[in-house]
Amino acid sequence: MTTNEPSSRNSLASLQPRHATFVGIDSDGCVFDSMEIKQKECFHPVIISHWGLEAVEKELREAAEFVNLYSKWRGQNRFLCLVRTFNFLRSHPGVQAAGIEVPLLDSTQHMIDSGKPLSNDTLAIEAEASGDAELRSLLAWSLDVNTQIERVVKNVPPFEWARRCLDLFPLQSDTVCVSQTPTEALEREWAENGITSRVRMIAGQELGTKAEHLEMATTGKYDHDKVLMIGDAPGDREAADAVKACFYPINPGDEETSWRRLRDEAYDRFLAGTYAGEYEAALIEDFESRLPEIPPWES
Ligand SMILES: [Mg+2]
Repeated sequence: MTTNEPSSRNSLASLQPRHATFVGIDSDGCVFDSMEIKQKECFHPVIISHWGLEAVEKELREAAEFVNLYSKWRGQNRFLCLVRTFNFLRSHPGVQAAGIEVPLLDSTQHMIDSGKPLSNDTLAIEAEASGDAELRSLLAWSLDVNTQIERVVKNVPPFEWARRCLDLFPLQSDTVCVSQTPTEALEREWAENGITSRVRMIAGQELGTKAEHLEMATTGKYDHDKVLMIGDAPGDREAADAVKACFYPINPGDEETSWRRLRDEAYDRFLAGTYAGEYEAALIEDFESRLPEIPPWES
């Protein structure tokens, strides 16, 4: 079994291959079934109370679940998803019938358009510098969400077949957790479940984007078709594309089946060099067809 190395950009970049293949694994919604509880029990109720949307709670939940969990925007940054949720909510027939005004979030959109990293740190600086009431309110919401997550999200176990895959991968591949969650939270969640030793390193948001993690960990060390990124969101596929790696999708709502197929079939193909091509393309096509752009009330 491999030993876990300390998490830093330097140690990720200087990670020396022990195997011919590399596997990067996303954490939230991929190894752990944590997306639903975080969204439904933390993000959405705090949106409702923060913006006083109790009268359209059902519609807000429908729009927010669509954007954050069941659409092509699954797994995107919280501020992007909030603006998109409000834009969908505004045209929801239930909201129009109720005559409820949905906040416009112009300043938030402006911050998104600025291209600055979309984090609470950026938001705190922008809110302070501009004195903008909307940004101050947005920051308060975002911090409330974090508090709620810390309070509510506990004891979420890994998917059973993810655990079985994690028992297998380190025997033949250099395996790293590639995530946009804070490293401190990742280390706690992986340690709680006794799976930390399955990966050589845990790379969280402080080490850069997922594409940067893969770039640092693999470029010049492995052939492109010997690198596999496993994830549950289109952003994971984009990170794989950025370094010309293979992508294996964990289908939202059908995670165990996806992990099981990886263990029984797809990982062997990856090791044998027969994963990329038609087989991978069919899996990705199926994955993308499950994450639509049109919300259910419009289709
Ligand atoms: Mg994920």
